[in-house]
Amino acid sequence: MPTCRFCNNTDSFISTTLEVCRNCIINGDWEKIEPHILKIHSDIRKLEGLPAYPPKSNNNQIKLTCNLCMNECRMSESDISYCGLRDPSKNKQGVIPFPTKSRGYIHGYIERNPTNCCNSWFCPAGTSAGYPNYSVVDGPEFNTYSYAAFLYGCTFNCLFCQNTSHKHFSKRNLYDTETLANQIINNNNITCICFFGGAPEAQLPFSLNLANKILEKKEKERIMRICWEWNGSGNKDWIEKCMEIAVKTGGNIKFDLKTFHEKLNIALCGISNKRTLENFKFFAEKYFGKRKGMPEMSACTLLVSGYTNYEEVEKIAKFIGSINENIPYSLLVFHGDYQMKDLTITPRNDALKCLEVAKTYVKQVNLGNKFLLGFS
Ligand SMILES: [Zn+2]
Repeated sequence: MPTCRFCNNTDSFISTTLEVCRNCIINGDWEKIEPHILKIHSDIRKLEGLPAYPPKSNNNQIKLTCNLCMNECRMSESDISYCGLRDPSKNKQGVIPFPTKSRGYIHGYIERNPTNCCNSWFCPAGTSAGYPNYSVVDGPEFNTYSYAAFLYGCTFNCLFCQNTSHKHFSKRNLYDTETLANQIINNNNITCICFFGGAPEAQLPFSLNLANKILEKKEKERIMRICWEWNGSGNKDWIEKCMEIAVKTGGNIKFDLKTFHEKLNIALCGISNKRTLENFKFFAEKYFGKRKGMPEMSACTLLVSGYTNYEEVEKIAKFIGSINENIPYSLLVFHGDYQMKDLTITPRNDALKCLEVAKTYVKQVNLGNKFLLGFS
């Protein structure tokens, strides 16, 4: 049975990778627990060829700085950015050129609407919302496609990552915005685009430029909603530009609020959630609720068995509700992945308890991945 090395409790809901229980992470001796947690993350990242921490080079050695996300990497010639996308030495050799606004590391593909997007329970692709201005049909947009823009690189290091392919890319995954924009425009059945990853934060100028190019090229009347799905750790100025595009095109922005407690975020995701919560609050207060019947933003939480429990969900839901109780909130049933393969699917009763507690603070709550629980 997995054991917490700090309180010696045994429980099948203790990750054998983390070896520390939820209670110790939140209430234990952080001075002892934090170094243990950071070492786990740094060991895993080294195996992936990623830097253990965001590089903070001395002024006289800096070759490249990046402020696209809260990690704010300052790189010398021998450093790699935390997201893995910027490596001054490999850029020089042309092996992994830096992403720019005109070219980025992306895997794009089409998916039939409504997709399994966390927001399809309220967005125009999956419901009657937004017709006729933002949707081609008064109902779910069957027979149309969503362009899934999977962006490589991530600003977090989630131990439960379900999209680890974002860590493995080469020059072959580098595409320019002009080519992609033409491809998307030429498929008349595409009605929406979703930038996700990885974390789109690591390539904000690229996704924004691609979005703008598509809007420039498309016929005036054509419906093309543009959405971003991210961990929210991005630079506020860039986020705002994306927000404005999402709002005007009928798209929306999905923030993954993975945790409420900063310590739990560091344990599960390697990085603080401070910027995420700040950004969520700032943008929800500024943008949410102006477009009638079409939420501009949403929140989503993966119910990591043993860690993201109803107590965590209660804090997150309370936080969302304190900003605006109409913000849609999706809870997602967890299944073991990456370094947390040993954890079971979120137990049915835990998922239902989270759903119930969330509903006391926010009005629109949805449980996603229900098929994992045997619900249809
Ligand atoms: Zn413990």
